[in-house]
Amino acid sequence: MRTPQSFRISLLLGMLVMLVMLAAALPTPAAALRQSQQAVKPTPLPDPLSEPLPNPVNLPKSSWRPPLYPVPWALGPNDHFLFNRPVEVSEVNWPLSTYRYGGTFFAPDQPHTGVDIVVPEGTPVMAAGDGQVIWAGTGLLFGDDDEADPYGIAIAIEHNFGWDNQPLFTLYAHLSETTVQKGDYVHQGDVIALSGNTGFTTAPHLHFEVRLGENAFYQTFNPELWLAPPQGWGVLVGKLTDGAGIPLLKQEVILVNQETGQEWRGVSYGTDFTVNSDPFYGENFAISDLPAGEYEIQIPYFGYVYTKSITVHPGAVSYFRYRGLAGFSDFYPYHPRPLSLPPEE
Ligand SMILES: [Zn+2]
Repeated sequence: MRTPQSFRISLLLGMLVMLVMLAAALPTPAAALRQSQQAVKPTPLPDPLSEPLPNPVNLPKSSWRPPLYPVPWALGPNDHFLFNRPVEVSEVNWPLSTYRYGGTFFAPDQPHTGVDIVVPEGTPVMAAGDGQVIWAGTGLLFGDDDEADPYGIAIAIEHNFGWDNQPLFTLYAHLSETTVQKGDYVHQGDVIALSGNTGFTTAPHLHFEVRLGENAFYQTFNPELWLAPPQGWGVLVGKLTDGAGIPLLKQEVILVNQETGQEWRGVSYGTDFTVNSDPFYGENFAISDLPAGEYEIQIPYFGYVYTKSITVHPGAVSYFRYRGLAGFSDFYPYHPRPLSLPPEE
């Protein structure tokens, strides 16, 4: 028979058990902290350089382009076509139009830090300019010999010329083999490697980068502003923002050649810590390899197509500025860099 005392004890025990259960159900401060840490833990970044390619069947079929301007080529103080193409003119040696610099076709959080030149495996890769090989092999991003490196077998050259008092580098990735070693001095046009399909790729191609200031992943610039155009052809760059000056991301731009009716389409890119705008043009849109002539720019924005006529000048960068609902602007970038002129007689 249960005495009142044993009843009280069992009641106390029951309350104790409930308290323990309650305590177990409620997170302790340490567990709560762990939980909140888990909640704010950043999601892992996608592969920094995943290189899947859009359907290669859609490659442009252009059988001939004029020979390239000799490098260095710069008709004005702010242009800097300092590099030759890393692939011979007998191949498709221009950037893949569907996955340009800054493109996020496959990895929305990770813009493309270079351009892709679609060549079959084993195509000779040439130095884009004179300089010293400062990297040859795997591990460019992750460190020495790391077989998992997204660049695969890669080469980096530090050039013996710079820009705006900063050193310049070019980078060649997804190679099948290198034919030079770290420390070698190479001249523009020297074969430094054979193209391949190593690293994060889905098809053979050459990934090419231009880096300014430092040989670092976050110091890339759009190679289309650095590779010499075919003679008589030019490059169009644009800065697209909304009316408040915020850069427009993935804004469609259509370009129509007024003589031939040929159309080019592209999208603006955002800049982040790996994708940078040119120090002078501050662009977030660029299309190279445009035959010089008269074009119409068409920008569909909020249900209206804004248009502007523009001349693409041969061997030079042509520029436009678009400001959302405010339309196109005649603003031209200004650079405080003093021009060095020969002394007057
Ligand atoms: Zn690439």
